[in-house]
Amino acid sequence: MKNTCIDFRQDFPMLRKKIQGYPLIYFDTAATAQKPQAVIEAMHHFYTHQYATVHRGIYSLAREATELYSQARRSVQNFIRAAEPEEIIFTRGTTSAINLLARSFGERFIRPGHAIMISEVEHHSNIVPWQMLCEERGAVLRIIPVNDDGELIQEAFEDLLDEKVKLVSIAHMSNVLGTIHPVKEMIAAAHAVGACVCLDGAQAAPHLPLDMQDLDVDFYAFSGHKLYGPTGIGILYGKQKWLEKLPPLEGGGDMIEQVTLDKTTYQRSPLKFEAGTPMIVEAIGLQAAINYLSPIGMETIRGWEEELLFYATKKLHTISGLQILGNASQKGGIISFTIEGIHSLDLATLLDCRGIAIRTGHHCSQPAHDRFGLTSSARISFGLYNTFEEIDIFFSSLTSILDLLR
Ligand code: PMP
Repeated sequence: MKNTCIDFRQDFPMLRKKIQGYPLIYFDTAATAQKPQAVIEAMHHFYTHQYATVHRGIYSLAREATELYSQARRSVQNFIRAAEPEEIIFTRGTTSAINLLARSFGERFIRPGHAIMISEVEHHSNIVPWQMLCEERGAVLRIIPVNDDGELIQEAFEDLLDEKVKLVSIAHMSNVLGTIHPVKEMIAAAHAVGACVCLDGAQAAPHLPLDMQDLDVDFYAFSGHKLYGPTGIGILYGKQKWLEKLPPLEGGGDMIEQVTLDKTTYQRSPLKFEAGTPMIVEAIGLQAAINYLSPIGMETIRGWEEELLFYATKKLHTISGLQILGNASQKGGIISFTIEGIHSLDLATLLDCRGIAIRTGHHCSQPAHDRFGLTSSARISFGLYNTFEEIDIFFSSLTSILDLLR
């Protein structure tokens, strides 16, 4: 297993880079993942040999580009086991997917007195759009609390659920705590009171096998760049029965059926949500990432990252004054931590001098830090290309830096 994952490293050209003379140890995959050569090549190949617009031209190049773009949508459908390709909307990323949903769902379904539910440990992109919507429509936000291990308190969630709640939007996996929430049970509970559920899958999609139909989730958002694909593309999955009811947000080319100067009729989903020339090459890059991951298997990736998580957690627990945020029983490969008397910024700067890239700050989740009485933390996060050896180097660098700083 260990050797298999070391083999993946050869597929990632960035991992051959040296930083300040040291081999790069990249522990910030939760922010964005490095790209396999296959993704870089697929985009290069498309620009070099196949590039043209989609859904517009009748010339052969445009027809071929349209077919490849449609195939990319079907690849995403298969990857997340959605029922139909029409349930896959291309967006710029998770943030724009959640904003699209908040505005469109809000316009159609949210009225004064209604409630939207999120948790107290969400990424800002799963807080701010709902706050904006509540302010605009006179609705209220209800907040699911977490316990000290970083798990959503299920009794509190059930107490907060009633028929006023129209939508529950929570992360599938937390970007600060690493917690994988019991979403299947939560979706069933929300449905029982007639609420829809949106999952912010930015962290889960690159690390867990996904099955939209088994989850029975209404909406699911994720980003291509965290899934080893390019920036500038993401997905909003929605059950067809909902997408049919939601209004488009942007008007323009491609999303229309018929335009006269008096009136416009719209295409059906997904095109009604994709006004303008889409992210064609980015969709091709995302498909290449899925094609790269599929033969490896998301179960294998999950298993490997669990081993890395377990190994690193055990080592970090031996450092005095080190506190890990989030000790849930179900966790992905993310460890946020603080060390008594040490500023995470100093730590990250000194680790960078040894070629080790870690994240510091609030990781776009200020309320999650507030919950634990903090303003910032250090975070390491893993991808399929990380190794035990890298964790060993990180650990010995960390202990020698702490000797210096203490
Ligand atoms: N939600 C979570 C849980 C995230 O980790 C991130 C990215 N850090 C986002 C949403 C936003 O993703 P993007 O910046 O790609 O839109």
